[in-house]
Amino acid sequence: MNFNERLAYLGELLITLSGSPVPSHQFQALADYAHNVIPCDYLAICLIEPDQNGYRIHSLRGTAGGAIRSQPFTLEEGLVGHVLQRNRSVIATNLATDNRGSADVEGVASRLGLYSALVTPLRQGDTALGAIYFASCQSDVYGHEELQLADLLSSGLSASLETTRLYQALLDERSTLAAVLSSSRDAVLVVNPQGTILLANPAVSDMLGLDAAAITGQSLYEAVDNPAVHHLFNRAEPGIVELQLVNGRTTQASLTPVTTAFGERVGWAATFRDITVLKQLEQMKNEFVSIVSHDLKNPISAITLAADLLAKAGELNQEQEEIRQRLIETAEYMSELVGDLLDLGKIEAGLEMEQVPFDLSRQVVEVMEQLRPQIEAKKQQLRLNMPEEVTAVGNPDRIKQALLNLVGNAVKYTPPQGQIEITVTEDPASQHPQAAAATSDRLIVVRVSDNGIGIPADSLPFLFDKFYRVRNAQTESIQGTGLGLAITRSIVEAHDGRVWAESVEGQGSSFAFYLPSVGP
Ligand code: ADP
Repeated sequence: MNFNERLAYLGELLITLSGSPVPSHQFQALADYAHNVIPCDYLAICLIEPDQNGYRIHSLRGTAGGAIRSQPFTLEEGLVGHVLQRNRSVIATNLATDNRGSADVEGVASRLGLYSALVTPLRQGDTALGAIYFASCQSDVYGHEELQLADLLSSGLSASLETTRLYQALLDERSTLAAVLSSSRDAVLVVNPQGTILLANPAVSDMLGLDAAAITGQSLYEAVDNPAVHHLFNRAEPGIVELQLVNGRTTQASLTPVTTAFGERVGWAATFRDITVLKQLEQMKNEFVSIVSHDLKNPISAITLAADLLAKAGELNQEQEEIRQRLIETAEYMSELVGDLLDLGKIEAGLEMEQVPFDLSRQVVEVMEQLRPQIEAKKQQLRLNMPEEVTAVGNPDRIKQALLNLVGNAVKYTPPQGQIEITVTEDPASQHPQAAAATSDRLIVVRVSDNGIGIPADSLPFLFDKFYRVRNAQTESIQGTGLGLAITRSIVEAHDGRVWAESVEGQGSSFAFYLPSVGP
């Protein structure tokens, strides 16, 4: 066979090698066709062991007498060791006498009737993988042309092995992902922009009553008979929404865009978490709170009434009068507490939450007027920084209540002569890291800052929890229910907004909230 014919065979062999990512297929193709490219009576692939301490010879084509045993050899041993050390092909013209050979490899090869050999290195990038071992019973079989062809074949095989490695890594990753997805109790649906379901995990069966295998590849609109799920994907906006399912269950669904590493949008992924039990618990808690608060209102009014009657019943001595005052203060505190609890219950249940456009600046002015007596009594300075008119959409009374809580706290927790500032701005959402989940691009941001007692850093995460109060020497004498900020948060969140606090203890605090802007 001339060189060109052998090159043509090599081309075919390389195509076959790249046709399958399975190593055993590649080695079979070598065993079947490599001798057409480089004549050989014996062919082996020598692979460095994963622990890197030696290599093993895997015979692909044996002689009539047999093959070299697949036992481990050291990295320096024999012609393969020689090739690995120098990263260059070698030709042995006589295996029996070649002083680079070893008794266990070349000695055995020559006893099997093999005479000459060509060994070529196999690499993957910078890493040595092993070598290809061609041997013949004839002398003078291997020369310059065979060396060239062997180098080409080894490069081709290396490339195929690299593909195999990547393929294997991909398979591993895929099966890990599949294992994670199938063990997840949250349902996952991935839908492409044309509305075809690309992926559904087994949890969709419990949660959405669907057969994951059956719906994969189908149109979302035909396979999933649930308008809420259609609406979620139609909206095509990242975010978290609560979905009511037909079987009475509630899920929290979060939608995220799926993009490739090149930034190409391939679809949307929705994760559904069953929050039915949480919702039921919340409902029970809200009902409990409002029933208990209602039942408490009457006895509190009775206490206040009794305290009033006591004063009218006749002269009281100083001690009796002090007790009467404490009674009135306690009743006031309890009535405030019950009022707050009732409010919280109503807000959390979504009651009285009709949304209308209103002027937020006016609400700020009204809050200021309402708190003027306290501000003047403490000789505090109040600065206002806001546009003449700011249109927001929501429940004006509730927003006023939120403002009253924040400004009221600033007055309460700032010593006499302190400063309080209220600012209202309309900003792009991107300016506020706290607004990552904002539903609109522009926001109305209200900030209430003071230079009062401030808040210890370890209390900041709990400020908006119900009944949380900072307890230290400075707050000891300041009365409160610990519900004001929880109410503020519920109101703001019911308006698709968020509230947050920043503070340095001893220097002051700043509370801010945003509402989606409806302006142009
Ligand atoms: P409270 O009725 O106790 O004022 P809130 O829920 O309104 O309840 O506030 C919770 C706690 O947060 C307060 O008890 C107080 O410790 C702290 N706090 C709130 N606003 C301020 C502020 N402007 N300066 C310092 N501490 C504050």
